[in-house]
Amino acid sequence: MEEKIIESFTLDHDKVLAPYVRVIETQYSKHGDPLTNYDVRLVAPNVQEIPTAAMHTLEHLLAKYLREKLDGYIDCSPYGCRTGFHLLCWGEADPHQAASALKYALQQVLKTTWEEVPGIKRQECGNYKDHSLTGAKAWAAEILDKGISEDAFERILV
Ligand SMILES: [Zn+2]
Repeated sequence: MEEKIIESFTLDHDKVLAPYVRVIETQYSKHGDPLTNYDVRLVAPNVQEIPTAAMHTLEHLLAKYLREKLDGYIDCSPYGCRTGFHLLCWGEADPHQAASALKYALQQVLKTTWEEVPGIKRQECGNYKDHSLTGAKAWAAEILDKGISEDAFERILV
């Protein structure tokens, strides 16, 4: 069987300039509906990684705030390396719109109270004790401070 090339593993992780949003690919259903997968990179690969509790709370908050801004939002799931997220959306690729939505979402994180974090009860989450809103806010502030680029290799800030 021919081995499928996974685009994300062909990316030179030493060349990217985080924080950024990058289009991984747009796929089309058999009916022609486009679905775009983005690389949402919050911190520089192999330089920094977000601790699990902060990453986990960011995951819950991005699910809430990206949905408010992005038409066709499907899902935003953390990378195992804890440097970013996959973002899946219906529609053609629009990295400017996705990066702008990420900026909005992180700005909202800074204003969020513990009571406003969705899905953090035992019944709602797979590891409900592993959350840090303080950490999520500190990382959101640092990422916003650096600025979010709509390009992975050039700093084009939104
Ligand atoms: Zn959870």
